[in-house]
Amino acid sequence: MTSLADEARLVFDNFTDRTTHLLNPSLRLGVTGLSRAGKTVFITALVHNLLHGGRLPMFRAQADGRILGTYLEEQPDDAVPRFQYEEHIRTILEDRGWPQSTRAISEVRLTVDFESASGWRRMLPGGRLSIDIVDYPGEWLLDLPLIDKDFATFSQEAIERARLPSRHDQAAPYLALIDGIDLDAKADEPTVQALKTAFADYLQACRADATALSTLPPGRFLMPGDLDGSPALSFAPLPVEPGKTYRKGSLAHLLARRYEAYKSVVVKPFFREHFARLDRQILLVDVLQAINAGPEAVADLETALTDILACFRPGRTSWLGSFLTRRIDKILVAATKADHLHRESHRRLEAIVKRLVDDAIARAKFSGAKTEVLALAAVRATREASIEENGETLPLIVGTPAAGERIGAETFDGTSETGIFPGDLPADPGELFRADGELQHGAVQFVRFKPPRLEKSPEGITLSLPHIRLDRALEFLLGDRLA
Ligand code: GDP
Repeated sequence: MTSLADEARLVFDNFTDRTTHLLNPSLRLGVTGLSRAGKTVFITALVHNLLHGGRLPMFRAQADGRILGTYLEEQPDDAVPRFQYEEHIRTILEDRGWPQSTRAISEVRLTVDFESASGWRRMLPGGRLSIDIVDYPGEWLLDLPLIDKDFATFSQEAIERARLPSRHDQAAPYLALIDGIDLDAKADEPTVQALKTAFADYLQACRADATALSTLPPGRFLMPGDLDGSPALSFAPLPVEPGKTYRKGSLAHLLARRYEAYKSVVVKPFFREHFARLDRQILLVDVLQAINAGPEAVADLETALTDILACFRPGRTSWLGSFLTRRIDKILVAATKADHLHRESHRRLEAIVKRLVDDAIARAKFSGAKTEVLALAAVRATREASIEENGETLPLIVGTPAAGERIGAETFDGTSETGIFPGDLPADPGELFRADGELQHGAVQFVRFKPPRLEKSPEGITLSLPHIRLDRALEFLLGDRLA
């Protein structure tokens, strides 16, 4: 019954979307990635550069001078929070700070008036494209596989993973709680909350910088959005016996019920109402953070990417595939924060992401959409330099490390500019996966830089935010719709 209703609703939604689309062409661009991958900064930089005619030589419509005007408009979805562009850009430009990261779904509509590139179409009145940028946590996509799993299977997998040596330390308090737990005992809220908190804390701890393990479901335990504290988010995996029916009112019964509620009131509505309506997608990946943390974090990131990519091309017989009438036709996978590396390493960074994505694509048996891989920096916080050392030229990056950042014994105060040799990425991406590889833990060093001080032109005009390959990303994602 539920899935019939799902389908009917979706067909209707897609129909209304399409009719509106004929009158006012629009493109829904999904921007996702795991937490701190760079979604907020990417969207802010994208909007800023389009609104202010930034330097975007590889973005044809802009480079050819065919963009007649760009402006923000009222978004089409009244129930989705608006992406706080104005506040975010103010933080970057005026405070030289980074904006508040993505915590839930949000949206902003940017409309572009343009002139067509082809001769005959130029005779017609100019074109207009509304781009609905939808920002949402990548963690939420990791919930899709839960749809087909019952509580016992979910629990078994989650507990097995928590017992892995790489996660055991973080999971210890949660594992201690479920050790010898009485599943038939009458459920009481304090016990449930203690379990949920211990499990959620473990998932959060895995994401910390030093371990940088990519996340595990339930995605809302890391990014609760506005549902924090609701019963649908108050559960945790339990060592239940598969196939056994637990007494109503027991701990096992209650948590299994809440797990099912999580799927029906949290996971399904997100996929139905938001995900299923996307036309294009950019998936941002912070590979550098994973590299910094070591081979296990890299392998884990690959697993998360596989699960994420699987959402974009679900099997037709799966829950999502059965009602997805609109298909995402282009996916850009972008390694972010490339400004932490010298230009000489960008190709290597791209090769690493490509390797991660190729493996993930093969594992997810993914095909169809056009996929491209790129290394970019939505906001370029550094510039390049070099020094001579022992007759060798070392490529440096120069920027202002954020207050409190450290390299070796040095702690930065957030005011002085410093040149840093970030280390070399391996030429063979395979090195990153080998625990005994040459790339020792910490061989590559990254610090957080403050956003750049905006330069002024000789005429005193403040230039737009610098970036690395944001224009290529825009060309891939939007270029054909502005041709
Ligand atoms: P989100 O969780 O995906 O929304 O991540 P954010 O966009 O908030 O980015 C997380 C952090 O990564 C920021 O606070 C910055 O420190 C850093 N960051 C993101 N994008 C860039 C970039 O293009 N250049 C630099 N240098 N840092 C970035």
